[in-house]
Formats: sequence, C-alpha cells, structure tokens
Amino acid sequence: MKISVVGSSNTDMIIKVPRLPVPGETVIGDSFTVALGGKGANQAVAAARFGGDVTFIGRVGNDVFGIQALKGLKDDGVNIDFTVKDPVVPSGIAQIVVDENGRNIITVASGANQNLCEQDIMKARKSILASDILMLQLEVPNQTVRFAAKLAFENNIRVILNPAPAHPLDDELLGYISVLTPNKQEAEYLTGISITDERSVELAGRILLERGLTRVIITLGTKGAMVIDNGGAEHVPAFHVKSIDTTAASDVFNGALAVALAEGKNFYESVRFANAAAAISTTRLGAQPSIPKREEVMAWLRKHP
Ligand code: ADP
Repeated sequence: MKISVVGSSNTDMIIKVPRLPVPGETVIGDSFTVALGGKGANQAVAAARFGGDVTFIGRVGNDVFGIQALKGLKDDGVNIDFTVKDPVVPSGIAQIVVDENGRNIITVASGANQNLCEQDIMKARKSILASDILMLQLEVPNQTVRFAAKLAFENNIRVILNPAPAHPLDDELLGYISVLTPNKQEAEYLTGISITDERSVELAGRILLERGLTRVIITLGTKGAMVIDNGGAEHVPAFHVKSIDTTAASDVFNGALAVALAEGKNFYESVRFANAAAAISTTRLGAQPSIPKREEVMAWLRKHP
C-alpha cells in the first residue's frame, strides 16, 4: 500500500511534570526526553510501522536535529528522497510538557517546516500520483497543503486531512478531501458546535459535510471516534488502557487509518484498527517512540475481539 505524507517534522523536547502549569507558573518536572515528532513525520512513521510503503515530503534544517529526524524516518523504512534539508532555516522544535494523566501542553517553533513549498510538492509529484492515499495535516503552510490536496484530487488519489493544529479551512480545500479527521477540539473550532454528547458530535460532522465533504471522522480521545457520512453516523468505541502520554495519539490514529483504508478495509474496521493502534501508543512516552508495530496492533485486536 503506497502512502505519501506531506507535512512537518519536529524534534520534541519533553518534560514530565506532576501537573500542567498555569500562565506565569513554574512547575518542576522529573524527567527530560528528546524524541522525534512533528505531525507529518509521526503519521509517516506510523503508516510505515503498520505496513505502508511510505514517502515523506517535508523539510528539516541542516542541523543535528534534521540529521536525526532523517535517520529516524529512514530507520523506519520511510522514503526520504523528497525530504528537503533547508539550507538556511533550522529544524522545527516542539516543547512539550506532559502531566501524570498523560495530558499535554505543546508549543512549536516551525522552523524549516514553514518553507515547505509548491516546488517541493512538484518534485515529489510522481510519487504522490503513484500513491493509494495522500495524508496531510496543518503544520506546514496552507498554500502548500492546498496545492498537494488539489494535485492528488485531480488525479483521483484519496486525501486524508487531519486538520491539526486547528486552523480555518476554506471550502476549496475541503472539496479536495476524501476524509477529514478532526479531534473534538478541532471539530468544535471548525463548526462552532460545543461537543458534549453523541448528538453534538454528529451535528458537528453534518455541518462539515454540508461544506462539501463526503466523510468526517471525529476522534474523541477515551471515547474512540465517530464516522459521519451521508449514510449516517457510526460510533467506534476506544480501547481501555492506562494512558501516560497522549502526545501523538491522533497521528497514530491517522497513520493506521490510512493503511487500513488503503488495504480496502471498511470504515468501521479501519477505525477499530486505528483506535487500537492509538490506544497502545498512549501507554508510552513520546511521539514516534510510542508508535506500535503492525504485529502488536493485530495481537491486541485478537485479544480484544
Ligand atoms: P488528539 O490526540 O488530537 O487529542 P484524540 O484525543 O481524539 O486526539 O485521540 C485520537 C485517538 O487516540 C482517539 O480516537 C482514540 O482512538 C485514541 N486515544 C486517545 N486517547 C486515548 C486514551 N486515553 N485511551 C484510549 N485511546 C485513546
């Protein structure tokens, strides 16, 4: 299954704290970890660990973080032929604090990710057009996301857009998307609906469908995810785990979803697979280090029929 990912690569600097600070407050943490991250790279690595033949199209800086990020992608078997080493701008950095319940606060210096441009996409054109699915998120410039989505759409390649971090989306872009995968907060941001129960999730999904989408999957943390399309709405429950860090949960979800859909699984089965993969990832610290391999997810699903 060939999957292309256009998106960000960051190095995450993670501090574990007993509780999240409020503005102006210093909270003393008990550990510091450096891990590979960035929504695009996370989704690429996830899709590769779940069995996809993955190409990552992005930018890193020409610095130690960029070199490590490229090595990480390569070690996971991700094709980095179209990952550009920016000659001027440094690599993207994310500062993450995680509390004892696995909740986090994240700030990002985008660095080289902000330079990902249309030419970078054009250089990877052949690879994108040979893909079953193109995956996008919103940590690289909007116009690059739109350009990649349009290219894929016009060539009948399915596009999954994970609209994170929350950002306004125009109808033109939505018209190119096969599956939109906001989390609860992003769905609230995009629709103005306050999501409190299954009905409000479905309502938010319907509002997004009215903007020209055919399918929306809203992820709901410990409650799993809801698939909403013109045929109806279907809730796919989460798996119960002891979470310690939810940092890349939605990236793992999206990577797993892409592979499962590319393999021809139906939406319910694909989301179940994605819920299992994401749940496992929340039991470990860090973005890319937390992503399970396909065999582990399959074993988990066999144990939790
Ligand atoms: P985000 O990571 O963007 O905040 P969600 O919290 O919705 O997005 O998580 C994405 C997916 O990860 C969920 O749909 C669910 O499958 C899984 N997930 C997240 N948190 C947990 C958790 N605490 N327990 C089990 N699964 C989880």
